[in-house]
Amino acid sequence: MSVDYSPLQEIIDGGMILNAPMKQYTTWKIGGPADCLIEPKNSEDIVAVVRFAREHQVPLFVLGNGSNLLVSDDGIEGIVLHCGDSLAQFSFAEVSDDTVLLTAGSGALLTKMARETAKRGLAGLQWSVGIPASLGGAAIMNAGAYDHCFYEVLSAAEIVTENGETARLSGDELGWSYRHTALMDRKAIVTGVELRLTKGDRDELMKTVDETIKLRREKQPLDFPSAGSVFKNPEGSHAGYLVELTGLRGMRVGNAEVSEKHGNFILNKGDCTAKDVLTLIDQVRREVKQAQGYDLVPEVKLVGRF
Ligand SMILES: Cc1cc2nc3c(=O)[nH]c(=O)nc-3n(C[C@H](O)[C@H](O)[C@H](O)COP(=O)(O)OP(=O)(O)OC[C@H]3O[C@@H](n4cnc5c(N)ncnc54)[C@H](O)[C@@H]3O)c2cc1C
Repeated sequence: MSVDYSPLQEIIDGGMILNAPMKQYTTWKIGGPADCLIEPKNSEDIVAVVRFAREHQVPLFVLGNGSNLLVSDDGIEGIVLHCGDSLAQFSFAEVSDDTVLLTAGSGALLTKMARETAKRGLAGLQWSVGIPASLGGAAIMNAGAYDHCFYEVLSAAEIVTENGETARLSGDELGWSYRHTALMDRKAIVTGVELRLTKGDRDELMKTVDETIKLRREKQPLDFPSAGSVFKNPEGSHAGYLVELTGLRGMRVGNAEVSEKHGNFILNKGDCTAKDVLTLIDQVRREVKQAQGYDLVPEVKLVGRF
């Protein structure tokens, strides 16, 4: 389907890139071109893009920091709405003696906010340092680590609905479970979040940040591009452990390789394709099922022309 995207550029403040190479927008450094990538500057831009996509029946995909995605080698049809740097503003407001609200655009990076809040002596996000998520992606996926998750601090979210209306959700409307949220079910586009943080000891918080980063470096293979954990942990076990138990460390298809250091990571060892990764994922699932009886479910999302 050939679509003329030029009218869109005239009605938004943000930028537009045609045939945008998605490998530049994903932490796996994999993916063919997106027909049209938009960098919205504000929620009005997002509303305009949603309405344009509906009117012209063009598929719309929302991109955060691209850290949980496998994008097809044949790219993505339609519009990719990149909630990134252009939506990364943030501010703090004290609401009581011990509580501070952080209001941030969905493009702000979780790790940056974890460091920034620790520096200001605000507790609540330190566990998340090292997760390369945008706040919008963390809110949609309920990012988590070390027995903590994003919803512990999320008190409200500003969204654009799939019909192109703006709304604010809080309290019960923000239902969540492991890597699953009500925002996901509603197909909400998160434009901003409000996080409730508590005052703490700055030095202690900075120490937690440093220790968390050290722990990640020890346990995770961070020298090659990846999308973090490929599979969700099944009830009662750990995906990485099951992969390792099956003897699949180092298993390779093309330039995609199961990490020797962490069984739930698949690394791009150099110009790897989405096809390589997908074939490897299928092989790992088959072998783990056969050997351990567990049906591993991918946590990474497949996007585009597969
Ligand atoms: C080295 C490494 C370590 C990681 N460690 C962890 C970890 O410890 N814990 C963990 O939970 N995850 C981890 N991840 C995975 C990843 O960072 C999270 O899943 C994160 O929540 C994805 O956020 P993102 O902004 O990159 O979203 P993307 O990957 O861009 O998108 C993921 C999904 O969120 C949707 N989305 C993104 N932004 C928005 C928005 N503004 N509005 C609506 N939908 C949106 C997308 O459409 C897509 O469905 C890791 C990844 C890497 C590479």
